[in-house]
Amino acid sequence: MEWNPEALAELEKVPPFVRHMAQKAVEKAAREAGKETITPDIVIQTKEKYFSLVGKEIEGHKKTTKIAVVRCHTVAEVCPGVGCLKAFTHRKLNFGEYGPDTELIGFFTCGGCSGRRASRLVEKLLDHGLDIVHLSSCMCMDDADYPKCPFKNQIRKGIEAKGVKVVEGTHH
Ligand code: SF4
Repeated sequence: MEWNPEALAELEKVPPFVRHMAQKAVEKAAREAGKETITPDIVIQTKEKYFSLVGKEIEGHKKTTKIAVVRCHTVAEVCPGVGCLKAFTHRKLNFGEYGPDTELIGFFTCGGCSGRRASRLVEKLLDHGLDIVHLSSCMCMDDADYPKCPFKNQIRKGIEAKGVKVVEGTHH
């Protein structure tokens, strides 16, 4: 199905972790409406219908999204976490789509290679309504200063196995 540039720009505003899902939902809505080209109005309507739950109202009940950040234990030796925390506080970059009532309920390191602490602490946070875990940007980047975490996929799977959504990245 064809997307016009304005519609694509609207789609880009959807957080990366649900963008593919949003794209499919928009195309389905367009097909059902008998449209051959996706225009911004279809994207906006679909976003309002399906993808505005992050930190917003759900059927009259306040839904507070609860998130946690897992970061690299090694990098934490030299990083107090300012970049992650500022990005969350100001709802920038990978936190850009969260509503004002979103709560950061956990901020901890993986405990060191191979990152086994991550899923254990995630389990503790399930009792507190944890919805989403962000893996810090220092775990996901791959350059000379921050080589990619060799256990990232393992850590991710361990968290997802507990039914928690994982987003890669915080402030990069
Ligand atoms: S497991 Fe990954 S995130 Fe944890 S200390 Fe090792 S490299 Fe860093």
